[in-house]
Amino acid sequence: MKRAKLELYYGPMFSGKSALLIKDILSNIDIPKLVFKPIADIRSKKIYTREGLEFESIGINKSSEIMKYIEEWVEKVYIDEINFFDETLVDVIIELMNIGIDVVCSGLDTDYRAEYFPITKKLIKIADKGIKLKAKCSICGEGSSWTARFINGKPDSKKSPTIISDKLNANIEYLTVCEKHHPFLCEKK
Ligand SMILES: [Zn+2]
Repeated sequence: MKRAKLELYYGPMFSGKSALLIKDILSNIDIPKLVFKPIADIRSKKIYTREGLEFESIGINKSSEIMKYIEEWVEKVYIDEINFFDETLVDVIIELMNIGIDVVCSGLDTDYRAEYFPITKKLIKIADKGIKLKAKCSICGEGSSWTARFINGKPDSKKSPTIISDKLNANIEYLTVCEKHHPFLCEKK
């Protein structure tokens, strides 16, 4: 049995992570595959990108649900928005690789406080290939590695939950920013 591989696309919002995931799917269209995404992010069952690419996916609540879909014909598994999962996803990915299934993941590396999502941090360590993507700072236009969250136009408090609902009665905005313009990174200096 061939040694299976893990590839990972990670970076801030708007850095094209899902687009690369879908491009990988479309360029390997003949490979028998399953595509998963967290239900927490479900606007629909498809993964969409700003470039208009889309692909049908299976929505799951917990990473352990992935194994229920695995059958002998599956050669590759794609998982989008890994930052919505807890660290048990690592065990599932290792289990998939141990049975010869290649895995491709994408997701945010850091939250709005510029702190690593534990799951992404672990996967960066074990990935055979990790591609760090950048966006553009929405303030100065330089390369941006970070996502910042603004509530009603002001930087959100560090004490807010990492993931918040769109249903909150507030104007929630995510911006990609460089290190100089991140509300918490510039504060540390
Ligand atoms: Zn900037």
